[in-house]
Amino acid sequence: MPVESSSSPFLVFGAPQIDEAEIDEVIACMRSGWLGTGPRVAQFERDFAAWRRVQPSQVAAVNSCTAALHVSMVAAGIEPGGEVITTPLTFCATVNAILHAGLTPVLADVDPHTQNIDPAAIEAAITPRTRAILPVHFAGRPCAMDRIMAIAKKHQLVVIEDCAHAVETEFRGQPAGTFGDFGCYSFYVTKNVVTGEGGMVVGRREADVARARMLALHGMSKDAWHRFGDAGYKHYQVLECGFKYNMMDLQAAIGLHQLARVEPNWQRRRELWLRYDAAFAGLPIDLPAAPEADTRHGHHLYTVMIDPDRCGISRDAFLDAMNAARIGTGVHYLSIPEHPYYQRRFGWRPEQWPHAMRLGRQTVSLPLSPAMSDADAGRVIEAVRRIVGHSS
Ligand SMILES: *Cc1c(COP(=O)(O)O)cnc(C)c1O
Repeated sequence: MPVESSSSPFLVFGAPQIDEAEIDEVIACMRSGWLGTGPRVAQFERDFAAWRRVQPSQVAAVNSCTAALHVSMVAAGIEPGGEVITTPLTFCATVNAILHAGLTPVLADVDPHTQNIDPAAIEAAITPRTRAILPVHFAGRPCAMDRIMAIAKKHQLVVIEDCAHAVETEFRGQPAGTFGDFGCYSFYVTKNVVTGEGGMVVGRREADVARARMLALHGMSKDAWHRFGDAGYKHYQVLECGFKYNMMDLQAAIGLHQLARVEPNWQRRRELWLRYDAAFAGLPIDLPAAPEADTRHGHHLYTVMIDPDRCGISRDAFLDAMNAARIGTGVHYLSIPEHPYYQRRFGWRPEQWPHAMRLGRQTVSLPLSPAMSDADAGRVIEAVRRIVGHSS
């Protein structure tokens, strides 16, 4: 096994691509003296609304996708104790947001091919207490929104789409996040559009979005820009017990330019994706399913399956070997019921959702950042081929 030069730089998983435009805008924001929620957040909201082809009154910027999920569920007005059906193959924030809203998560297993929540499993999980479905467009691949919306309509359920991976995703020509009552996006550092920390609520009904926006800022009737701006002091009223979830102009300063490059960055990730597909075609590992016809895949995560019986190496040993090759990787995700908290609270066992359990125990996400060079991708390819035993 060739020894990697210890001088090769560590390839950081999910490293964002930051250009001079973002840096200049952050500096301009700081020089302006207005760091908090203000004109740059308003511009970012308008730009994001245009990107997802909705009205500006249908979006509200917040400081994370977790916050977006939380205020969406509160704004949906679901009474405490209502059940929300979601996927076991997601980040813990999806489930924690359900709990913070006073609701009960119910897991429905994924389709092993798409890795997205299986509509048939959703139907099987419906009870008289079910109030909402929370699909996650995993890795940027759209969920079966036609079937999910049909189930929601039949049972009169709220739909909240977790679009943390899915800023570019479309299903039959329609943007992910615009099918349900709410779509929640993430601008965390590893996501497709970055603000450092950040998120966005997109809502079908203006009144719901207005409520989500108010909940995201203490339940106050006016935000600081409208109180302290140049139009004169305005009193505010507290109308609800809200949260502190507002996005800052400093964050939007980054996001404005990230969003302007969303398309070329997607193209670059797609290029890397296709290169990986070709390079790994003969290896004893499962690759991501090809994007479905008439959809746009967000190409957020490139996940391969390390089945020890086929590869002769365990998933965790593969992670270590990649690390030794100075390549950062990710695991998206150990299934939710693998975690002690949910086991304790709900008595869940991973075996109850066998597809998510197997995927979570075998999956590895390879670097797929637009900041990667062709040489970086070459290093990833060489390392994967060597580690799973098919050097070429
Ligand atoms: C990243 C992520 C979140 C949380 O996003 P934040 O902006 O970090 O709060 C939620 N769901 C999924 C599927 C994610 O990947």
